[in-house]
Amino acid sequence: MAVTTGFAIDPATDALRARVAAFVRARIVPLEAGHAHDDAHGNLDIDALGALRDEVKAAGLWAPQMPAAQGGLGLSMRALVPVYEAMNYSIFGPPAFNCAAPDDGNMRVLAQVATDAQKARWLAPIVDGRVRSAFAMTEPHPGGGSDPTMIRTRATKQGDGWVIDGRKWFITGAGIAAHFIVVARTSDDPRRGLTAFVFHRDTPGFSIVRRIPVMGPEEHGGHCEIAFDGMAIGDDQRLMGVGDGLKLTQIRLGPARLTHCMRWLGLARRALAETAAYIGVRESGGRKLADIDSVRAMLADAATAIDVARLLTLRAAESLDRGEFARREISMAKVAAADALHRAADTGIQLLGARGYSTDTPLEWIYRYARQARLVDGASEVHRNVIAGAWLADPDAFFAWPVAHDAAAR
Ligand SMILES: Cc1cc2nc3c(=O)[nH]c(=O)nc-3n(C[C@H](O)[C@H](O)[C@H](O)COP(=O)(O)OP(=O)(O)OC[C@H]3O[C@@H](n4cnc5c(N)ncnc54)[C@H](O)[C@@H]3O)c2cc1C
Repeated sequence: MAVTTGFAIDPATDALRARVAAFVRARIVPLEAGHAHDDAHGNLDIDALGALRDEVKAAGLWAPQMPAAQGGLGLSMRALVPVYEAMNYSIFGPPAFNCAAPDDGNMRVLAQVATDAQKARWLAPIVDGRVRSAFAMTEPHPGGGSDPTMIRTRATKQGDGWVIDGRKWFITGAGIAAHFIVVARTSDDPRRGLTAFVFHRDTPGFSIVRRIPVMGPEEHGGHCEIAFDGMAIGDDQRLMGVGDGLKLTQIRLGPARLTHCMRWLGLARRALAETAAYIGVRESGGRKLADIDSVRAMLADAATAIDVARLLTLRAAESLDRGEFARREISMAKVAAADALHRAADTGIQLLGARGYSTDTPLEWIYRYARQARLVDGASEVHRNVIAGAWLADPDAFFAWPVAHDAAAR
């Protein structure tokens, strides 16, 4: 295993983190007050978001995950951990910086695998913030879900192009997205049977069937069921080679899962901050809640869960930066971060008493949102299978200490 640099962050990253944190607290958290700027689905009203995005650009904090050549700040995965965490201290944070899913993962994968012409046509407008995007993989039964080899949406070669037929659902952002990536079946080969394509929402044969009502607050554009009825597109809209759809999915999903973890850490910290504000002043039996042992134990467990998830996230980010797939590292981080978010939100609601159950604080928003964390981008059970599989394959390698060969890392 290659050298690890430990868990410190460098001063430049820390300075950026501090600027993002200050911006979020000064400009975004106030927009949460009284739900005055909420849209119908518990997210920031799209006009308020637009104004905020202009401010973020002016502050030089836009798209930190994108390479500088593409208009971003060129941060490594490792540097993104504290920055994304700071960003999601507000429930409205990530889209303001152009760092919300699914745009975040879509931009990253297009930057990695698209041709220069495809980048100019499909990536640049997302990076600039002119359009939003969606990633369409999951299908209703009996199509693909946890198991992408079950995907049924089919792309058939016709002349110089492709015709796509099928149905997808729970496609985040589809209600407002202009650019879509779709994973479709091009053959029955078990490993190389899928291919990815990019298309515009105005393409004939594409339609939104419905915006699926969900229990949580929604990303802009909701979670939609979409249909392809003979949608014809050119071969220049194919991403990577024919049969590389699973590979593209793996390239996209690893970092996308990890950036979810980073954002969830920020939300979890916010839940605990809301808790601290109440238990520091609220009394029971002549004592502050914060001085009661059973309350402190709940806080300790929630804070420890966040820190464990953060260290796992940093380790996986470092592994990705080294060019590794970091499969089990990402799975461990994702399971831990999803659970830490649940614990923090639940602890907050419990310790705020009745107020925690109200919509006066963001805790109930975070609690409802948190439930998707154990499902999206791979259910926790699937990630646990990956972790167990890695350990069973080689228990010694699983727990091998990374050896640092340079003096600075010792
Ligand atoms: C809010 C939200 C947003 C989403 N956004 C998108 C999106 O933008 N694009 C997109 O393509 N998809 C999206 N999805 C879909 C999401 O990725 C899938 O829900 C997820 O991959 C699981 O697939 P499924 O729902 O078909 O569950 P199924 O595959 O039907 O599995 C159901 C349950 O069975 C268990 N299970 C399944 N397989 C295994 C296994 N191998 N081992 C152990 N247990 C297993 C798990 O508990 C799992 O939750 C979104 C989902 C939600 C809830």
